[in-house]
Amino acid sequence: MGDPPRKVAIAGAGVAGLAAALAFRKAGYAVTVLERTAELGAVGAGILLQANGLLVLETFGVAEEVRAAGAAMSRFLMRDRRGRALLATELQAHLPPNLWPVCIHRADLHDILWRACAARGVTLRLGCKVSAVETDGPSPVLVYDTPSGAARLAGDLVVGADGVNSAVRDLAGFACRFWPVVEGSVQGVARFAVPADCHGEYIGGAEACGMLPLGGAKTFWFWGGSGQTVGKIETLSFATWKESVCRDFPPMRLVLDERHDWPGTVRLQHQSVQCDAWSAGKVVLIGDAAHAMSPNLGQGANCALVDALALVSRVAARDAGANLADALARFEHDRRAMVERLQRQGQRRAVASAQSWPGLEPIVNFALRLVRFAPLAMRRAEVRLMNGLEGDDLDLRAAGIRAAIPW
Ligand SMILES: Cc1cc2nc3c(=O)[nH]c(=O)nc-3n(C[C@H](O)[C@H](O)[C@H](O)COP(=O)(O)OP(=O)(O)OC[C@H]3O[C@@H](n4cnc5c(N)ncnc54)[C@H](O)[C@@H]3O)c2cc1C
Repeated sequence: MGDPPRKVAIAGAGVAGLAAALAFRKAGYAVTVLERTAELGAVGAGILLQANGLLVLETFGVAEEVRAAGAAMSRFLMRDRRGRALLATELQAHLPPNLWPVCIHRADLHDILWRACAARGVTLRLGCKVSAVETDGPSPVLVYDTPSGAARLAGDLVVGADGVNSAVRDLAGFACRFWPVVEGSVQGVARFAVPADCHGEYIGGAEACGMLPLGGAKTFWFWGGSGQTVGKIETLSFATWKESVCRDFPPMRLVLDERHDWPGTVRLQHQSVQCDAWSAGKVVLIGDAAHAMSPNLGQGANCALVDALALVSRVAARDAGANLADALARFEHDRRAMVERLQRQGQRRAVASAQSWPGLEPIVNFALRLVRFAPLAMRRAEVRLMNGLEGDDLDLRAAGIRAAIPW
């Protein structure tokens, strides 16, 4: 493992894979991405980009485009099931405007990242599903299925960015554990804007839902409940589910009334993943493949973006010397503590919000109303954690990028 890699093979063209492709290409590497689906970014609904992810997008030179395609939020409101405010987090008091969270359609984020990759000469092969990883030769090889048969792609470095059910992780023999499923969600996009005084997250019992502004005068809506409840949703008609949500959370009628069936919504049971190591030889995992986490902090995609830049900066930066194994170990060292903190926090919230018994809801609502009296430093610490930042600064180092940016 003497020479630094020049040819990078990436499995997966999600947020992690496209961000890594762009960063490696900007740093001068030849990059090929294999994606199993026939087209990019067709799935999904809204996604929240927070300070750590936005800092990475600034470095890529696409943050302005992302802000223009999404909607920035200067405050975040938690509400009770009828829409009455419980807790307002004034993000503007803690973050500069360029780091206010941006809610964007996942497809728009993919599109922006892919256009930046294409402009730089990244090779993308669609409809190519990785089915084997060979690690016995001098360079690892991704074997993949295409409509016209199996093909092979060697890289000086192979990046597994193929999501929570990563084939690279399993095929290359990484030891990992799935945490128990405790939550799930239904999400969608309404093709119209709702009044700003409806934005926020509505909580009630073991369920939560919400509406957030998306770019293009659209609205991202979501509903979340226990994993068991979501499992049962499969057996319900959309009309039955919609009526029960609108009965429990009346304001949701605003966005759900336009829908009459499931197609176009996203239904998921959420899984968290913990791997013993994120690299083995010349294969490295990033994003959900390495550490899928509960979506309730809105950090999964942001961590995927930070992983991509942290990896490339370690592999390419001069201080890593020529030793790839060291660079990969440093990348993991840079990232693991923050990622695991977010995973634990997300899991704690998921478990806590799955609790419900008569009389608990007014106590929770009362406690949330009291948070406004918490010391400012405590609230700031919470905002920083939600935004994936460590220490007091608002820069790439605080987001977990420890080595120099190699371009
Ligand atoms: C309901 C929900 C809401 C969320 N909300 C937020 C949010 O608001 N903010 C946030 O930051 N994060 C959020 N997340 C998390 C975020 O979506 C993920 O963390 C993020 O998408 C991870 O990106 P990734 O590139 O690692 O994986 P993915 O986005 O899953 O991408 C993996 C890619 O690999 C491809 N692939 C898979 N297997 C193969 C194979 N064998 N060969 C080739 N290609 C393959 C897939 O088709 C896919 O394109 C949410 C997640 C969920 C479930």
